[in-house]
This record gives sequence, C-alpha cells and structure tokens, in this order.
Amino acid sequence: MSKYSKETKKYSHKKTTTGAKKNINSPCPISDRCGGCQYIDKSYQEQLTIKEEYLGKLLKDFGDMEPIMGMENPYHYRNKVNAAFKRKKNGEIISGTYEEGTHNILPVTSCFIEDEQATKIMGTIRALVRSFKITTHNEDTGYGLLKHVMIRTARKTGQIMVVLVTASPVFPSKNNFVKALREAHPEITTVVQNINQKHTSMVLGDRNQVMYGKGFIEDVLCGKRFRISPNSFYQVNPEQTEKLYMKAVEFAGLTGKEVVLDAYCGIGTIGMVASDKAKEVIGVELNKEAVRDAIQNAKLNGVKNIRFYNNDAGKFMVGMAKDNAKVDVVFMDPPRSGSDEAFMSSVMKLAPERIVYISCGPDTLARDLKYMTKGGRYRVERMVGCDMFGFTEHVESVVLLSRVKP
Ligand code: SAH
Repeated sequence: MSKYSKETKKYSHKKTTTGAKKNINSPCPISDRCGGCQYIDKSYQEQLTIKEEYLGKLLKDFGDMEPIMGMENPYHYRNKVNAAFKRKKNGEIISGTYEEGTHNILPVTSCFIEDEQATKIMGTIRALVRSFKITTHNEDTGYGLLKHVMIRTARKTGQIMVVLVTASPVFPSKNNFVKALREAHPEITTVVQNINQKHTSMVLGDRNQVMYGKGFIEDVLCGKRFRISPNSFYQVNPEQTEKLYMKAVEFAGLTGKEVVLDAYCGIGTIGMVASDKAKEVIGVELNKEAVRDAIQNAKLNGVKNIRFYNNDAGKFMVGMAKDNAKVDVVFMDPPRSGSDEAFMSSVMKLAPERIVYISCGPDTLARDLKYMTKGGRYRVERMVGCDMFGFTEHVESVVLLSRVKP
C-alpha cells in the first residue's frame, strides 16, 4: 500500500492556502487536473511555512513543534513512479496519472517531483508498447494487457526496477520486449511482470513473475542495505527518510538495553536502523512480501537482535499485552488511517517508557495523541515535521511521548 495514494487523502489545508483558483501560476501544464501538487505555484519556503503552521495549529494542545525539516532540493525526489497506460484511437500510447477524481488518464511526459530517469524510462516503454503492438487494458471492456507501469529507483545503489502490471499472465514477445528495454536503458537491474486481474484502485496484484534480474532492488538508508520487492512499502523520498529515521532514533533515546518494537515496520527499515543501539528489536507488519524482505534485510546487514512477525499490528499488540511482554520503546509508523483501538489500548497496557510516533496523517496523529495523553498516561515531549512530499499538501511528523510515572 502506498502512503501516498490519492484515495486516502482525507485531510486538506488547501482552503487556507490556495484560495479560489488552484495553481493559477503553475509552471506545470497539468497541475490543475492531476491533483498531485497542490502547492506547485508556491515557493518551497512558502510551502514549508504553510506545513509548519498547519501542524503547529493542529497539534498545539500537545506542545510546540520544532522547526520543520525541509528538503535541500525539492524537485524530482520521488523514487517511485506509477503510470497508467492507454492506446489512443490514432495508435499513440499515452501514460500518466488519473485526472483528479476520475479514471481519465492525463498524459505525463515530464514531472517536477518524479525521478527523472524514471520519466525517461517511461517514455521508452511507451515507444516499445507501440512498436511491439502490446495491447493496453480498457477498464470498461476488460480487453487488453498492459494496465500500469511502476518504476522504482534506488538512489544510493543506482539499481532500478521496472514492474509491468498486466491484466493476464501471457505477455507476447516478452523476452524481446525486455531485451529492447534493457538495450535502451542498461541501468535497469530488474524487470518484473505483476499480474493484477482485479478491478480495484490498487495498482499491483499479488502475483509477480520475474522477467529479468533478481525481482527486487536494493537501496541504502542510514548506512544499512535494504532489499525492496515490488509489493513492499518503501518511503518515496530517500533523502528525507534518512533525516526522519535519524530523528526517530534520536527521540527513542536508546542506550543498548532496550527491548524495542517496530510496529508497521514494512521492510524493517526503522527497526534495523535502531538495532545497533537496542538490546532487541521486534518488528510487526501485515504485508507478507515486506516481512520476507525484512527477514532478508536482517541477514544482509548481519543484524542478529531483530525478529519479524507477519501479523496485524493491533492483533499482535493484543497478544503481547496478554502475555505481559516487556517493551521499553515502541516505534509506530501506521498508514494514513492511523492505528486501531486494539493497537492503541494494547500499547497503553504494555506501557513502554517511550513511544515514537511517525505519522503521515496529521489528523489521525492528533486523534491518537489525544488518546494516549488522556488522563495523564503519556506526555508529549517533542514534535517535529518532516517534509517528505514537496509541492504536495502532505506532511510527515515525528512525535516523542514518554510515560508519566505514577
Ligand atoms: N515503517 C515502514 C513502513 C511504513 S508504511 C517504513 O518506514 O518504510 C506503513 C506500513 O504499515 C506498510 O508497510 C503497511 O503494509 C503496514 N500496515 C498497514 N496496515 C497494517 C496493520 N494493520 N498491521 C500491520 N502493518 C500494517
């Protein structure tokens, strides 16, 4: 699941900022229809101020925010690019994003926030789809093969993964297609066919067939190496992710003696970064493929004090609370919808000394902070915003809570 998915965009501070007409002075020709970059017409400094003020206001009951961590270069930060594909009546292939609120494909040939190499590869794939006469999927008729293409780049290692999402398993002239793609872009390290026969808003299906390479890429974050499979979550802005994780680990105040829980751990990144300073780390994550990556990542980095569990974080926590498990520090990084009641109440039962809450949904963060501070159980110690999503209205935050001693 992508933290960035438009479908889950529940909160908005557009009203206070963009005024009546959105993006009037936009340098991007499609920004008024794409729905991606709400702040494209604002200077980067202005964007940071808006986000900082928004968080400050929303979270004011819990204390003061520290200065927001901004990006050095706010352009082309996205390491993951998704595009839907369509053949026009004249045979031309277009690829891009859905027009806001519809399923009309808006052609994207350049983008201010996408990885530039990925943009180029997408252009090559359009040309190859045309010359190989690959059919594109029509949602209404159900006819046609290619639905989407996802490209992920690993900035530190240079590895690139191309995922061709198709409506059925048979990909005509697949070897020649991949060969031509690799000839044009030798930097591509793996090509995967993902089969998605469902008609949902999810881009990826469950089945992957490796067409070339290992079927995953590896990137480096905070000095550790991580393998990333197609369906696993990986933060889209690696430069800011390092700042975010370093801040989270700093907030955790680890001394080497702590039992640490990394809830909603994805491929194990936060727990692995914290593992050097902890006695023991337990990671829990719902996505099977991500857990498989996490286990491999522990091996890859020779990290021996970490274990991963494939479970719903709420259910897992209920079990831990029942067993009276001892946990000193909880990192929690839930999806935008926040944590459920089962998780929250079990965290309270486990009563860790510190909770580091990493959130991409300020509204649900505020809701969950209210729950945890109710009755003086926990106190918010530090709060900081981190801009992972320049030009968009989204903002990430990290909050440190500590248990109030009776
Ligand atoms: N901490 C990771 C992942 C954060 S994204 C990182 O920084 O990369 C949130 C993660 O929560 C995703 O990997 C998603 O698959 C997982 N997730 C969503 N719902 C969950 C649930 N109910 N229980 C456990 N994990 C869940």
